Amino acid sequence: MREIGHFIGGKKVAGTSGRTSDVFNPATGEVQAKVALASVEELRAAVANAKAAQPKWAATNPQRRARVFFKFVDLLNQHMDELATLLSSEHGKTVEDSKGDVIRGLEVCEFVCGIPHLAKGEFTEGAGPAIDMYSIRQPVGIGAGITPFNFPGMIPMWMFAPAIACGNAFILKPSERDPSLPIRLAELMIEAGLPAGILNVVNGDKTAVDAILTDPDIGAVSFVGSTPIARYVYGTAASNGKRAQCFGGAKNHMIIMPDADMDQAVNALMGAGYGSAGERCMAVSVAVPVGEETANRLVEKLAPKIESLRIGPYTDEKADMGPVVTKDAYNRIQGLINKGIEEGAKLVVDGRDFKLQGYEDGYFVGGCLFDNVTPEMEIYKTEIFGPVLSVVRAHNYEEALSLPMKHEYGNGVAIFTRDGDAARDFASRVNIGMIGINVPIPVPLAYHSFGGWKASSFGDLNQHGTDSIKFWTRTKTVTARWPSGIKGDAEFVMPTMK
Ligand code: NAD
Repeated sequence: MREIGHFIGGKKVAGTSGRTSDVFNPATGEVQAKVALASVEELRAAVANAKAAQPKWAATNPQRRARVFFKFVDLLNQHMDELATLLSSEHGKTVEDSKGDVIRGLEVCEFVCGIPHLAKGEFTEGAGPAIDMYSIRQPVGIGAGITPFNFPGMIPMWMFAPAIACGNAFILKPSERDPSLPIRLAELMIEAGLPAGILNVVNGDKTAVDAILTDPDIGAVSFVGSTPIARYVYGTAASNGKRAQCFGGAKNHMIIMPDADMDQAVNALMGAGYGSAGERCMAVSVAVPVGEETANRLVEKLAPKIESLRIGPYTDEKADMGPVVTKDAYNRIQGLINKGIEEGAKLVVDGRDFKLQGYEDGYFVGGCLFDNVTPEMEIYKTEIFGPVLSVVRAHNYEEALSLPMKHEYGNGVAIFTRDGDAARDFASRVNIGMIGINVPIPVPLAYHSFGGWKASSFGDLNQHGTDSIKFWTRTKTVTARWPSGIKGDAEFVMPTMK
């Protein structure tokens, strides 16, 4: 059986802990490889490599650091088909969707090509008599990233690209479900000219994560995954004196106003609800039509489209979506659908028994649509992370607005309307981090920042954009007096600008 190890000190290394986890082909249910689960010692070895390499990298001028990313972007484009296929083979999503995953990461790499400008400091001449004051941004030293299974290309690049461009070394702990792509990305970074030891990929589970969170040489930790683990990582990292940003789960609503273009809204819901089998943190999982008539029209138009979704393995170029990632995920989703029926929601489209000929052991769930869902139901409160859309009918705009506002999560939300006043009011009042106006998945581009509110995010700086430069650097402020010969008496009171 093929074994996937780690990437430490500029090369692939085999795992030595003796512990592994199965990597499946979600379309067939077969175990296609075993991934090594690092021990504390293996994690420490990676950190030692990073620590040895980092000072020289930090001292490399920012233009040279940027050039590695220019080359890396080129390599990503050259290898796009290979990378997307590798990603799909472990994740299960379609190859076109995997290209989107890689491209969204590539765009962050393009953004950090501007690092000479992005990490520039500030300077005040004459802040006092012969005094100049300047602030510089220095790398935190060693950064770490812990990433989820659903975007094994984009999310590692969200983290390692700005961290490395800022002059840090980096330890990436990817998801154990789809670990091959991150290792391939590290190989390409070396090919692009990155010195060995600056980007290390350590595969593992809680043991590796806990070793990261307690390692005295790691200065900052970025996490993306489910909310309970995000909360745990944030608390543990902070209590160990580390800077942390931790992003968790979501339950994204889409409000459909009576004046919305219904065909546009339905198409948006199809892509945002069922693309990637609903396994996106920005997937829309709750549709909120305003008014009975809007709701009836919506459900009527949605149902046949969901019934005719094309579901297939990643090798099917025409598939709209693939299987979910593991048998555990499959069972959890089926359990939640059954719970929704028990709780009295109306299952308008039932995808529970979907089977694909030739792939009977794959983890395929057919598209499901629930109507008459209420806020007390489990299927409304819980992130299902599968191809299941819930319709919650609202009587009016205020009731619709109150739903995402009262929900535990606050990642993304969308409103579909032709009314600019309503859209503006919604964007201003809703307590959610990312808002779409006639845009169903409002994932900000690389030069803006990505992050939710409430239980979707812990920490104050977001992913990518200028926030990421702040997160991966520390500010140092220098107050300097030149010429040094200026004389004065000893001053015993707090110096102020008189
Ligand atoms: P997960 O929380 O199970 O795993 C995320 C990472 O944490 C993995 O690297 C995993 O190995 C590690 N981990 C798992 N259990 C751990 C434990 N007990 N202690 C320490 N580390 C542990 O998440 P997942 O299933 O891989 O990803 C799906 C989740 O991620 C969903 O909730 C989704 O909404 C969320 N997500 C959020 C965003 C965002 O930006 N907010 C983006 C993508 C995914």
